[in-house]
Amino acid sequence: MKEFNITLTEKIKLINCKKVKKLLPGYIDDMLKEKARTKVKEHLTGCSNCKIAEEDSRKIKTIIKAFPRIR
Ligand SMILES: [Zn+2]
Repeated sequence: MKEFNITLTEKIKLINCKKVKKLLPGYIDDMLKEKARTKVKEHLTGCSNCKIAEEDSRKIKTIIKAFPRIR
């Protein structure tokens, strides 16, 4: 019988893409609690889809920052 080891892939699966996308804004703003942040970070390491989403969100944030606020 094979021993059950949690691989990185399994760890990534513990938190799914839907959850990560929900947490991304908080992750980028550094508003997440340590536990949630680690989970997102681990997921991003193994999931290129979410990694791209993270980079896009950061870019958008930079663009928004670059524009003066419209009053
Ligand atoms: Zn993902």
